[in-house]
Amino acid sequence: MKLFFLGTCSGTEPMPGRHHVSWVLQLQEKLYWFDAGECCSHTAHVLGLDLQNIRAVFISHCHLDHVGGLANLLWTIRKLDSLHPRQDPGPVDVYLPSLPTWEGTMTTLRETEGSFAINFPLHAHHAQPGLVFADGGITVEARENQHLPPGKSLSYRIRAENHTIVFSGDVRAVEELDPWLDDCDLLLMETGHHKVETICRYVSQKTGTRRLAFIHHGREILRDPEAALAVARQFLHDRISITNDGDCLEL
Ligand SMILES: [Zn+2]
Ligand SMILES: [Zn+2]
Repeated sequence: MKLFFLGTCSGTEPMPGRHHVSWVLQLQEKLYWFDAGECCSHTAHVLGLDLQNIRAVFISHCHLDHVGGLANLLWTIRKLDSLHPRQDPGPVDVYLPSLPTWEGTMTTLRETEGSFAINFPLHAHHAQPGLVFADGGITVEARENQHLPPGKSLSYRIRAENHTIVFSGDVRAVEELDPWLDDCDLLLMETGHHKVETICRYVSQKTGTRRLAFIHHGREILRDPEAALAVARQFLHDRISITNDGDCLEL
């Protein structure tokens, strides 16, 4: 399976070469979308990903650096369907912890071309802690974190092909992910709210977490990514990477 990083920036001021957070898991041609920051559909399409293969979208929380591209993503699927019609298109399930954001997204879309009439089943779900999704060889679980008031912000654990990925979303502290770090092939950890050294020191003690990749970068990393990587490697050696927009990672 492959991971594509569409946007790696936190919600700080616009940064050259980086957009708000979004990444995709490609598994047996299906795409599983995690967060939907600005431009994610554009970046994915330009990278060669087929948006008509999206099976599900998982939103960690509804801050705009995580959902700013959601309406555009759905609009783009419809656009591609109009240009390249599909026979019997499968459903797209969208999971998010705030249904008012979904209602706002749909309100926006219904004012667009053709009142956003679509020919694929589109279902929104209120994502809550526990098992969120299980289909097509992938399971996705959620747990609450303390980035926002209770129920409003989630981290996700993804299992597929005997690999386990933990996606922090935005968290108040990395320790909130502790129950998931004893067996984790890849931790995708946000650094918008955290110091590189704090995270790396903590993860270096978690021998069950085999690899760390930073995403949702804050100013510390963006000021000097090379320097940040040097600090990180003091703790994690070759177990750490800093993702960039457009990167692909194969597991
Ligand atoms: Zn954020
Ligand atoms: Zn946030």
